[in-house]
Amino acid sequence: MKLCGVCGSDLHVYKRNDVQGTIFGHEFSGDVVEIGAQVQGIKPGMRVTAAGFRPCGKCFWCREGKMHRCSNMALLGYQFPGAMAQYVHVPFAVLGRSVFALPDELTYEDGASVEPLSISYFSVNRAQPKENEIVAVIGLGVIGLYAIQVLKAMGVAKILASGRRPARLETAKICGADLVVDAAKADAVKAIMEATANLGVNTVVECAGTQVTFDQSVAIARGGGKIMLVGVYEEPLKWDPISVLSKNLTLIGCLGGNFPSAIELLKSGKVKTKNMVTNIFSLDEAAEAFKAQLQDAGAIKVMIKP
Ligand SMILES: [Zn+2]
Ligand SMILES: [Zn+2]
Repeated sequence: MKLCGVCGSDLHVYKRNDVQGTIFGHEFSGDVVEIGAQVQGIKPGMRVTAAGFRPCGKCFWCREGKMHRCSNMALLGYQFPGAMAQYVHVPFAVLGRSVFALPDELTYEDGASVEPLSISYFSVNRAQPKENEIVAVIGLGVIGLYAIQVLKAMGVAKILASGRRPARLETAKICGADLVVDAAKADAVKAIMEATANLGVNTVVECAGTQVTFDQSVAIARGGGKIMLVGVYEEPLKWDPISVLSKNLTLIGCLGGNFPSAIELLKSGKVKTKNMVTNIFSLDEAAEAFKAQLQDAGAIKVMIKP
């Protein structure tokens, strides 16, 4: 293991504090040390990142041979040991499917950023934004900030962003947002409606996962617009379906990643991890790393270096 990121999803579990003995870590990069007998194309010494899944082998999809759709999928870093360790075991290692070679242009920091970037890419790509469209990104965590970079790389006409933490507002500008609203001080809905001549945006990428940001998303989406639900909601939502159906809005759930596209974006230089990886801690300092990711005002992506 060379580097492993602390993820917002880890924090959801960490805050609940009811899971003992979990080895977190699913955003990682490192060198291959050993391979299983049936593994092909992967060699010791290769610089890689990987997606760790273990299908159940018993459900409908597994029996159909579509293991990637398994309805009881176990995840590396949650149901089995993750990468915040010196070594990690990646089951079902298939080059280009679950294990991905890092091109020379990519650093280990880039490699450990592929997983979160792949989620941003997957979610934005699902919206199929056109070049003349206006897109709003609500919630400026790592996923939201990478979503801005992906939208910029896709050549979208105007990117509006809204968030709360000062360091992240600043980074949103560097990532390419045309307007950044400090939602802690200003009315995000008002600011975004003003910036769109009161039309609203074509697409909202909702990365915060709260009642307030969901309501904002519905308010700023223009008629026929799309809301990409990316942020993980800790509480069920209260909503008035009339507000969605009266504007013919489309709500689209997003859960997935696209590693090859994320690697391509980093290789091309269109997306950068510079300014995103703000803190690196040793494995012994893992507790500090989690605290920093949770509450440090300047932290964007915290990583652990085993
Ligand atoms: Zn993650
Ligand atoms: Zn299964």
